[in-house]
Amino acid sequence: MATIRLLGTAAYPRVGETVHLLVRAGEDCLLVDAGTGTPATLEELGYSPGDVTDLFCTHSHADHLLGVPNVLLGRFFARIGAIRATPPAAPLTVRGNEATLEDLRALVGIVTPGLDELLADEDELRGTEAGDSFSIGDITATVLPAEHPVPTQGLCFEGERRVVYTADTTATPALRERVGSCDVVVHEAMYADEQAALAADLGHGTAREAGAFAEATGASELWLVHIADRYERPDRLRREASAEFDGRIVIPDRFDTLSL
Ligand SMILES: [Zn+2]
Ligand SMILES: [Zn+2]
Repeated sequence: MATIRLLGTAAYPRVGETVHLLVRAGEDCLLVDAGTGTPATLEELGYSPGDVTDLFCTHSHADHLLGVPNVLLGRFFARIGAIRATPPAAPLTVRGNEATLEDLRALVGIVTPGLDELLADEDELRGTEAGDSFSIGDITATVLPAEHPVPTQGLCFEGERRVVYTADTTATPALRERVGSCDVVVHEAMYADEQAALAADLGHGTAREAGAFAEATGASELWLVHIADRYERPDRLRREASAEFDGRIVIPDRFDTLSL
C-alpha cells in the first residue's frame, strides 16, 4: 500500500522537525522537502538517502530547503563508500519550480562542492509547472500552484484516495479550483484568527482558511501542519478550522501516516 508519512510537522525547528513528507509507493520513495535532521530521520525509519528515488522541493524557504543538501551529500557519500550506508540503488530525480531549483543549485554550491558534483550522471533535475504530473510507483503526483512570497508548489497525490498537500500558501481560489475534489487535505495552518493579518503579511494561512479550503474540496479529513510554535495548545486552531469544516480534523504528530 502506498503511504505518505510526515517526517516533521513544525513551522520552525525549535520544537521539532519542520514539515516534510516521505511518500512510499512500490520501489519508489519520494521526499517532499527536507529538514535539517532528515538523514537521521531516514535512519530512524530504516531508510538511507540512497533509498530516495525522487525529491520534490516545494520552495526555497529555509524550513523546507535547508535539509536537501545533506540528502544529496548522503547519496554522494554512500555512492563512493565514504559513509556506512547502502549505495543508491536507483537514479534520483529532483523536481521543483525553476526558481527553487536555481536557489537549490546556489545553496548546494555554497555548502558542498556543487550540485553537479553531488549528482550522479544518471540523476536529473526537472523543472515543474502547475499541472505537471509524475509517477511514484503506481501513484500519480500532480503539481499544484501555491500562493506564497516566493514561487511555491504543492502536490496532489492520486492512488486509491486523492490526497492534497498544499505546501506553504495563503488561501487562494486558484488552488481550490485546481484541486477540485479530494479525500484528504494536508494544509498549512500557521496562525489562528487573531494573527490573520500577520498570516496575510507572511503569505501563510490560518486554520479557518484551511477549514474552508477542505470544505470546498469535499474532503472527509483535514490535517493541519506548519502550526506556529506560539500555540502550545493548538485546540483553538482545531476549533477555528471546525467552524468551516464538517469532517475530521487531525493535528498530526511526527511520523503519522496517511494511506493513499
Ligand atoms: Zn515558506
Ligand atoms: Zn514553511
